[in-house]
Amino acid sequence: MGDTRIVVVGGGAMGLATGWALTRRGEQPIVLERFARGHTRGASHGETRNFNNAYAEAHYLDLLARAREGWDALGSVGGEPILRLHGLVSHGSGTALGSAAGVGLIEVERVLRERGIPAELLDSGEATRRWPGMRFEDTVLHSPDAGVVRAAAALREFERRIADGGGQVRWETPVRCIEEDADGVTVHLADGGDIRADTAVVTAGAWTAKLLDGIRLPPLRVTEESPAHFAPADRSLEWPSFNHFVAPGAWPSNVYGMPTRARV
Ligand SMILES: Cc1cc2nc3c(=O)[nH]c(=O)nc-3n(C[C@H](O)[C@H](O)[C@H](O)COP(=O)(O)OP(=O)(O)OC[C@H]3O[C@@H](n4cnc5c(N)ncnc54)[C@H](O)[C@@H]3O)c2cc1C
Repeated sequence: MGDTRIVVVGGGAMGLATGWALTRRGEQPIVLERFARGHTRGASHGETRNFNNAYAEAHYLDLLARAREGWDALGSVGGEPILRLHGLVSHGSGTALGSAAGVGLIEVERVLRERGIPAELLDSGEATRRWPGMRFEDTVLHSPDAGVVRAAAALREFERRIADGGGQVRWETPVRCIEEDADGVTVHLADGGDIRADTAVVTAGAWTAKLLDGIRLPPLRVTEESPAHFAPADRSLEWPSFNHFVAPGAWPSNVYGMPTRARV
C-alpha cells in the first residue's frame, strides 16, 4: 500500500468529476493539478457548456443518460441546478443531412422519443413564433431536456465534494512523470516530491501525450478553440441553446451556441 490508493492527474472537468466519482465509492483520491484554481489554460473553465442531446447514435445517448444521472446527483448550487435545462433547437438548411454525424433530424426525433426523451418537430413558422429573433429556414427539432451545464460552478462543487469525502485537490502541483511497477505507480512531482499509489488516473487533456510519453495512445491532435460571445439585442427574449447545421463545405460552417448569463 502506497501513500494513497488513487491519484488523479489533472484537475479539469474530467479529473474533478473522476475525483468526485471515486469519493462516492468511498475512496479518498488525491487530485493533482499543475495550475491554480480557476485557471483558464485547459478546456474546462468558463460559465457554460452545452448539454446537447440531438443525437441518434445509441452509444452517445447511452453516455448522455449516464451524464444526466451524474449532473442530477450533483444537484443545485446557489439555489440553481448545475444542469440548466432550457431546451435546444436544432435546425438549418443542412438538416436534410442532419446532425453532426450526418443523420437527419427526423431520425433524431424518432430515436429520442423511443428512449422517452421529449422531442418535437416544428415547422419554421411555429419555431419563429416561439423564439423571436432566431431565424429558421426549415424543419426544427426542439428537445426540451437539453440545455447547459454551469461549468465553473460544477468545478467548484466537485472540489467541495471531494474534500467533504476526505479526498484532496492539490492546485499548482505539476506532475513531471509517472512510473509504473508491479506494486503500483510512483507519481513524480515537478517540485521533487513523490507520491506512491496503487493506481493513477490520467485526465491531462491536451497534455496527455506528453505526460504518457512511451504509452501507445490513439493519435491526438490538439487544437485551439475560440468561442465568441454576443450581447443579446433584446434582453427580454429567452433563447434556448441551438445547433445550426449547414450543407457540407458551406461558410460559415455548422455552429452551436447557448445562452450564458453575463457575470456582473
Ligand atoms: C471552447 C470550448 C467549448 C466547448 N464546448 C463544449 C460544449 O458546449 N459541450 C460539451 O459537452 N463540451 C464542450 N467542450 C469540451 C469540454 O469542455 C471538454 O471535453 C472538457 O472540459 C475536458 O476536460 P478535461 O478535464 O479532459 O481537460 P482540461 O480541462 O484541459 O483539464 C486537463 C487538466 O490537466 C492539467 N494537467 C495537464 N498536465 C498536467 C501535469 N503534468 N500535472 C498536473 N496537471 C496537469 C491541466 O492543467 C488541465 O487543468 C468545449 C471545449 C472548449 C475548449
